Amino acid sequence: MADEQVVSVEQHLAGVLEGITPLEPIEQTLLDSQGLMLAENIISGVTLPSFDNSAVDGYAVRMVDTRMASAESPVVLPVVGDVVAGAKSRSGMGPGLAMRIMTGAPIPAGADAVIRLEDTDRGVAKVALFRPAQSGEAIRRAGEDLVPGAPALGAGAALGPQQIALLAALGRDRVRVLPRPRVVVVSTGSELVDVSQPPAFGEVVDSNSYLITAAARDAGADAYRIGIVPDDHSRLLEVLEGQRLRADIIITTGGVSMGAFDVVKQALSDLGTVHFVKVAMQPGRPQGFGHIGGRTPIFCLPGNPVSALVSFEVFVRPAIRRMLGKRTIQRATVQATVLERIDSRAGVRQYRRGVLHREANGDYSVTLVGGPGSHLIAALAAANCLVVVPEEVTEVAVGSRMTVIPLLLSHR
Ligand code: AMP
Ligand code: MG
Repeated sequence: MADEQVVSVEQHLAGVLEGITPLEPIEQTLLDSQGLMLAENIISGVTLPSFDNSAVDGYAVRMVDTRMASAESPVVLPVVGDVVAGAKSRSGMGPGLAMRIMTGAPIPAGADAVIRLEDTDRGVAKVALFRPAQSGEAIRRAGEDLVPGAPALGAGAALGPQQIALLAALGRDRVRVLPRPRVVVVSTGSELVDVSQPPAFGEVVDSNSYLITAAARDAGADAYRIGIVPDDHSRLLEVLEGQRLRADIIITTGGVSMGAFDVVKQALSDLGTVHFVKVAMQPGRPQGFGHIGGRTPIFCLPGNPVSALVSFEVFVRPAIRRMLGKRTIQRATVQATVLERIDSRAGVRQYRRGVLHREANGDYSVTLVGGPGSHLIAALAAANCLVVVPEEVTEVAVGSRMTVIPLLLSHR
């Protein structure tokens, strides 16, 4: 890619994804594997359930002893004991007898059904049964869920609560997963000051490092903010050199436009492994992507906060999702009715900030917040979606149906 080429959003994204390789699997403890992709095949080593047990609180019986039972003339059986969940050994029971049994307790030898409490008089010494039992009634059979040697989960499975529960049931407290990428976020700009410092005239509080670190965490990464780097070649290269070994992805913001002080672009262009292009989109036209130190992907996003976030959404989020091994790397979109007119430049894909409403009939409508200006942080914070105006569209009339990207929190 030669510098200063204008490329489409799709072309730039394709180039980015080509430069992203999934991480090496690691061993992770069970709860820390939540949201990650399983990187091994899990074969059951156990029988689930491991013993025949009761599905209800009731009385273990032999079906044949209950045949004549009805509400009008109950069958009455002596109760010879209790079986509780966690009983250490299997109890037994002779013909013509019953045992009181709790949910999950092992079925006594000699019983072949359980009648639930509600269909009895709940007796202690003896019990009246109001109906006959079916064969096998309310018995959870050993191995009906899983048997040893059966596949339980396959490599590539997404680990949510249900899968984590199964792994625990199988006796696994650690599993192999694709790790969360470690993302390092660097804000560049000599005008920037830390949030802890009141800005003097002409200074700007660094909000991008918070914005992009939070966005990267939301996308599933383990992300860290690095302090502000001034517009200074050697300082920038020094910081990046220090970070590249601990990072799976580096993200910088600022310093990628045409200005004389756009140091990120100047310093990294010289390396030859990071390329700067103009993407046919608004905001987010100047973009840099490449690798430093031969392996660490680096995204150089523009400095205006809205541009930084839109660039993150369009290029970085899919890259993080790809590293995580996610099947779906793009956010889901919805179609919404636009409630105000939008103008757009031909040949440029515009991403406008909007508020998406769900109407009573289930349809979506969207209004814009803020103008097209990419410095409008308060408007960005009021938005819950991006409205996508395609390249060929120059005017969106009120009532048009447009593609909208809801910016839903992922909770990782
Ligand atoms: P640049 O891309 O470096 O030319 O920055 C464009 C605009 O974004 C300038 O007005 C910057 O002050 C602003 N900006 C750059 N970096 C940040 C940041 N980390 N936080 C907030 N605003 C920023
Ligand atoms: Mg700057």
